[in-house]
Amino acid sequence: MAGDVRLIVTDNSTAARTMAHRLAKGKVTDREVHRVPVWDVDAGEGDATVIGLGGLLFRPRGDPPEWTPARRAPAAALRILARSAASLTLATADPLLAGQARDVACEGRPLLLRAARVEAPDGTLRHIDDLAAHARAVALEAEAVFAVHMTPVDSELRAADLVALGMAGEPVRRDVMMRAGVEAESLRRLEDRGYLVDEPAWRSPAGDLVCTAVDPALLRSKTSATMVAWIDAVGRGTLTRADALRRIRELVAGMRPPQRPDGLDAGRIIGNCPECDEWMGGARDRIRCMGCGLSYRLPRHVEALAVPGTICDTCDAPLIRPIIRGRRGEPRCPDATGCPTRLDLNVAR
Ligand SMILES: [Zn+2]
Ligand SMILES: [Zn+2]
Repeated sequence: MAGDVRLIVTDNSTAARTMAHRLAKGKVTDREVHRVPVWDVDAGEGDATVIGLGGLLFRPRGDPPEWTPARRAPAAALRILARSAASLTLATADPLLAGQARDVACEGRPLLLRAARVEAPDGTLRHIDDLAAHARAVALEAEAVFAVHMTPVDSELRAADLVALGMAGEPVRRDVMMRAGVEAESLRRLEDRGYLVDEPAWRSPAGDLVCTAVDPALLRSKTSATMVAWIDAVGRGTLTRADALRRIRELVAGMRPPQRPDGLDAGRIIGNCPECDEWMGGARDRIRCMGCGLSYRLPRHVEALAVPGTICDTCDAPLIRPIIRGRRGEPRCPDATGCPTRLDLNVAR
């Protein structure tokens, strides 16, 4: 099947398998290339091979942002499959993923450059939206720059999250915040990381500490909106990607650098105490009740995130989601000594 295969790239392996079975007029065979599952299909009008990438192949890190490989195995598999492909179909809604996949496939077979098309959900084929890809790329670069700025406090917090945190000085309902432009993703991240609690939402002690640690301009929507406007201008082609990044870096460099406040982790709220129902706070070392002082020790190298609205079936402790060396584990009971459903963090899942 050398030379006339249609190579189809999807977001992930589940999408790839679904697409392979949808296209198949005959047999579907699965195999692995660089341990990445791929599906070979007799699609009627010729053979097709489908692969799912699992996310962006390159991501930016640092300030200035440097793009480094984020998924080596799928990239290597894509390069190999491209060698025997006659055309390339990018079945993804992410223009940046489409552009990255095209560039990597063309390293394997430069002729694919002209034969690369994006497939919309309705089946129509079009060229890659390079402006949209640039806008998404610069948005990720802005996140990388901002993460460096926020490292002393919490590098996971995005600019838009701080705006949401700024709005919650008084308890405020989530739908009110969302109508004012706060995205659900920001609310979820703030809640998981213990900065925002309850409905109406209010700031935990750690949320208050973040607000006093950062430059006040970052709590106002104007700063974040300015960056979004530059990113949008890249998408319209009225601002170059390089100019947008330069402006964003200058804006962030002009902010007062945050210092890590004392007691930040202890003030990140995880849930309610099973003994006295007060709030329990903590993200590293231990989780402690702000009322009765009941506490759970956390293993080293573990960061605990909240899993709002959940408690242990056995002991009523608020469940945590452990982050172990950057990997998110399944929700677990934090009581490693008293509860039979022990937090066995040596078996990282
Ligand atoms: Zn308590
Ligand atoms: Zn328990």
